[in-house]
Amino acid sequence: MARYIFITGGVVSSLGKGLASAALGALLQARGYTVRLRKLDPYLNVDPGTMSPFEHGEVFVTDDGAETDLDLGHYERFTGVAARRTDSVSSGRIYSTVLEKERRGDYLGKTIQVIPHVTNEIKDFLSIGEDEVDFMLCEIGGTVGDIEGLPFFEAIRQFTHERPRGQCILMHLTLLPYLAASGELKTKPTQHSVKELQSIGLAPDVLVCRSEHPIPEREREKIALFCNVRKEAVIAAYDLKSIYQAPLAYHKEGLDQAVLDAFGISPAPKPNLSRWHDVMDRLEHPEGEVKVAVVGKYTQLEDAYKSIAEALTHGGMANRVRVRAEWVSSELFEREDPAPYLEDFDAILVPGGFGERGTEGMIAAAKFAREHNVPYLGICLGMQLAVIEASRNVAKVEDAGSEEFDHEAGRKRFTPVVYHLREWVQGNHVVERKVTDDKGGTMRLGAYTAHLAPGSLVSDVYGATQIEERHRHRYEVDTAFREKLETCGLCFSGMSPDGRLPEIVEWKDHPWFIGVQFHPELKSKPFAPHPLFAGFVKAAVESARLV
Ligand code: GLN
Repeated sequence: MARYIFITGGVVSSLGKGLASAALGALLQARGYTVRLRKLDPYLNVDPGTMSPFEHGEVFVTDDGAETDLDLGHYERFTGVAARRTDSVSSGRIYSTVLEKERRGDYLGKTIQVIPHVTNEIKDFLSIGEDEVDFMLCEIGGTVGDIEGLPFFEAIRQFTHERPRGQCILMHLTLLPYLAASGELKTKPTQHSVKELQSIGLAPDVLVCRSEHPIPEREREKIALFCNVRKEAVIAAYDLKSIYQAPLAYHKEGLDQAVLDAFGISPAPKPNLSRWHDVMDRLEHPEGEVKVAVVGKYTQLEDAYKSIAEALTHGGMANRVRVRAEWVSSELFEREDPAPYLEDFDAILVPGGFGERGTEGMIAAAKFAREHNVPYLGICLGMQLAVIEASRNVAKVEDAGSEEFDHEAGRKRFTPVVYHLREWVQGNHVVERKVTDDKGGTMRLGAYTAHLAPGSLVSDVYGATQIEERHRHRYEVDTAFREKLETCGLCFSGMSPDGRLPEIVEWKDHPWFIGVQFHPELKSKPFAPHPLFAGFVKAAVESARLV
């Protein structure tokens, strides 16, 4: 039976709860335990799939096809444990399940209430897979006191109460603001947020305090006394240059020890942190630097391409170089020639995206990469646009475009070399979609197998001829243009097992130009960089040496 660690936050949002949870997961693994991490989000969206990346950052997709919060990406990057559908839930999902059950008559005419019906649903969610791991880490989104979060906190209270003593602990993150005028760290907001927890029947066992300044012993004692936690369980969390320092930094502050103490696990198994020492060594001692332009649409918000940013860093670590990624709004290249701008970069990446805005600029970037032998990685939309570029400028299908843009505009303007996919094979059954389907959860989502052409660049990059990668898209490159494009040199080097869906394209006479229909960034880890990102950065290093 798993031990449960609930992770909550107070005082302000954006304290790095996700990172603290992920780092703790990694530290427990380093001590030989198995872990699983989960996110409970108080918002009313059923899942983040329909939320704008500007609003909520990237949508992280799991192998089993769930569209989840980007914190699951952190969990996976730090622990290497593949996230699952049952690792993410929102209030919206919980309420919609309760209401479905009510409509079906499952509650036999009872009055449906937050307690017990909603809280039961949350507790059922928490219990899923509890026999599978040693520790289940459950992070609650938002801050204590938020109206939407209350049912989650109440469910945790009941859950902890119903379980044998010592099976659940609570770790609470707070902020210690620094008052420059008096030169002091203030503990009062932390005390208040712990009070808020206590008023709903919860008490922290471990307090993680974010602080920009060292926490003096005296303040630590004060926090322990007023917040009713042991002094050793008041853990400092200082700002870090890189998120990958978090496991070692938290270990140094005694987080994993405090958690094991709170469970009464003694003696605690010794940690093996060699994985994280190696990660830090690669990160802190690069032997060079490359510049990569990420030409996309959601460039104002860093979190919108979170996994891509991380995967590029991992690709750098694989090659012992620092990757300087610059986020370029593709709309710029609709007004200006991209050449003077892109000449400065060693490689170009066009990421995923939705809608027509900015796509002509991305096409211009793909054209520049092809013509100037600059390494190019096109991801999802970035692959579709590379095919459109090839069709227009090399295969002379001058009005080539994507059906997505015609659908959006409500009229036909393009020859669709990228079309709306309505039927495909998943495992051994056929999935069907209509244009009029709901927006939520109706894309081709999750892990699919692809067969790679032997002798292709991509099979060399992977060192394999069969791969499995995660998808999230509605549109697909049309094989009707395959022959024409292959004659021009754009090879369809990865296909779905039934040979109907192009998964990967690459230019034959180019040092490194690959477009993939899936999202490789979602599976990259600092201790296991994704082969496509490792290969892409290697090509960037080589191209940097040539100039
Ligand atoms: N908008 C494109 C599609 O739906 C690409 C999606 C993506 O880049 N994730 O197919």
